[in-house]
Order: sequence, then C-alpha cells, then structure tokens
Amino acid sequence: MRIGYGWDSHAFKSGVPLKIGGLTLDHPEGLAGHSDGDVLLHAITDALLGAVAAGDIGSFFPPGDPRWKNANSAIFLATALEEIRHAGYTIANVDTTLVLAAPKIGPIAEKLRESVATLLHLEPRDVSIKAKTPEGLDQDHVAIAHAVVLLEKLDRSDQPAQMAVAVDSQASIEEVVRNLLGESTAQPARKPAFDTEDIT
Ligand code: MG
Repeated sequence: MRIGYGWDSHAFKSGVPLKIGGLTLDHPEGLAGHSDGDVLLHAITDALLGAVAAGDIGSFFPPGDPRWKNANSAIFLATALEEIRHAGYTIANVDTTLVLAAPKIGPIAEKLRESVATLLHLEPRDVSIKAKTPEGLDQDHVAIAHAVVLLEKLDRSDQPAQMAVAVDSQASIEEVVRNLLGESTAQPARKPAFDTEDIT
C-alpha cells in the first residue's frame, strides 16, 4: 500500500464560475487560477501523484503553459490516475477536507462525493468530502482543500483475461500457453496418424 497527501488553495474572484469537485456551484464568486481553479481536484491530483512519488500537478501542468488556461481540472485528475495505474496501483479510498467560508458544503456534499467518485472511477463509499469554515484564520476570501489517498498494489494475477479460459484438452492448454507467451495462435499442421502414401 502507499499513501499520498495533497493540499491546494485558491483565492475567490468575481466574474468566474465556481468549480469544486468537478461541479459548477451557484455562487457569486469563483476561484482564480490559470485553470478552472478547482481546488478540490487539484488537491486530490497532488495526493495521487504524491502517493507514487511522480512529482506534482505543477510539474505536469506548468501554470505558464497556455494549453492549461481555463483547463478543466478533470484532465489533471485523469493524468494522475494514469500515473498510478502505470505504477501498478489502484485507489482504496480518498478522504478530503475543504476549508472555506462560503458556499456551505454540507447541503451539496453528497453531490460532490458522487462527482469526485465518478471522476476517480470509484464508488461514493470510497470517497469522503468534509468541510470546515476557516474559524479564526481570517481567510474568508480563500478556498483550501486537503486530500489523502490510499493506494493498493494491483494484483496482476487477477488481470489476464486468458487465465479464465476453460482448459478442457491438451490442445487448448497449449493454445493458452502460446497466448500468454504472445505467440501465434495459429495451429501447427497436424501430422496424420497414418502414412498417407499407404492409402493412394
Ligand atoms: Mg490549484
């Protein structure tokens, strides 16, 4: 197993939509950023990359790169998912905490949970969305997100579909072995059990 932690913050800004967890929320201000400013997806992306020691969101998607201007942060998350898959891991669960004064997250936490679970190809039960207001921090103009992920090693022995092939004869055993070795499945010409010269 491996663990990853991510953190992000964005300032509120008027005139842009508020994107959190892949959802566009009804709020007078959005989050400023080079991309769509989705603070929650950025924290989860960093947690995933951190879990496999693959760098961070800035090393994959530099803020100065015009390709990522107003980019959908789901792209960043999908890239991190690809990184952990290449490293041979799958997600066990994700736990997150949002820190922001408004909007209130409680009433929409279930929708956020479903959205993030869908983006991560997980069940909602494997995703936790918690929220706090920044009491005493004097940070009402900022949204902060923390994320922790736990990864499990993929069990490769479960992977090859060929292993599920019913083996009911010596010939099919040989075919399964050839498939696993990446060899041609073409059957070699079989020798007749008798000498063909004899029957002419
Ligand atoms: Mg960010």
